[in-house]
Amino acid sequence: MERQSEIATNLSEVKFDIETACQKYGRNSKEVNLIVVTKTWPASDVEILADLGVTDVGENRDQEAKPKHDAVKANLTWHAIGQLQTNKAKSVANWADVVHSIDRVELVKALAKAVVNRTSVLKCLIQVDLDPTPRDIRGGAQLSEVTQLADLISDTPNLEFSGLMCVAPLNLDPEPAFAQLAMKFEKITETYPFAKWMSAGMSGDYELAIKHGATHLRIGSSILGHRAIKG
Ligand SMILES: *Cc1c(COP(=O)(O)O)cnc(C)c1O
Repeated sequence: MERQSEIATNLSEVKFDIETACQKYGRNSKEVNLIVVTKTWPASDVEILADLGVTDVGENRDQEAKPKHDAVKANLTWHAIGQLQTNKAKSVANWADVVHSIDRVELVKALAKAVVNRTSVLKCLIQVDLDPTPRDIRGGAQLSEVTQLADLISDTPNLEFSGLMCVAPLNLDPEPAFAQLAMKFEKITETYPFAKWMSAGMSGDYELAIKHGATHLRIGSSILGHRAIKG
């Protein structure tokens, strides 16, 4: 019960802040969707969230997400938000409704095989790397690669190109990244009017993501606390 009330309090604070930011920046809050990132937290927390009316949860590691998905009875939309190896495509296609982290052709090809027997489409977002600092870990496609990936996803049965995603660069002002993502988003929706999702904004920067047009916020620690299990 204690955990339930802790999560309930945090959730209503975050929802209030989202509402406030929407008013401040002239956004319709119905167009701003909350995905609660449940990575490192147990299936029981996911059930609590579902009881509190949460409809969407996000996970970043297949090994953790798969058993959690199978343990949760509530009917939720599951988002795969982490970097994805091609050998995980098959497993991810079994639990995810949306993949936010498409960043290369090989991954689209692996997912194409994985979704052959799906009865519903797998929504796909292209993760864009907007970090001006070169880093070792790969965190998305370059802006120049987006069109090619979008075309490939759109041509694949059971995959649906749904929009763009970014993670703001670590330790830098997130606004330039969000502004760049918004520009690319506007461009790409001219070609793909049904690709309506802009996934941006985490616990530390979601107000600014709302300012720049985010439609899907991925919020973890502000609601669930700082990580329970290492992951
Ligand atoms: C963990 C994670 C989040 C949520 O981050 P918080 O700071 O806990 O809100 C969002 N997006 C991705 C890709 C993540 O891995």
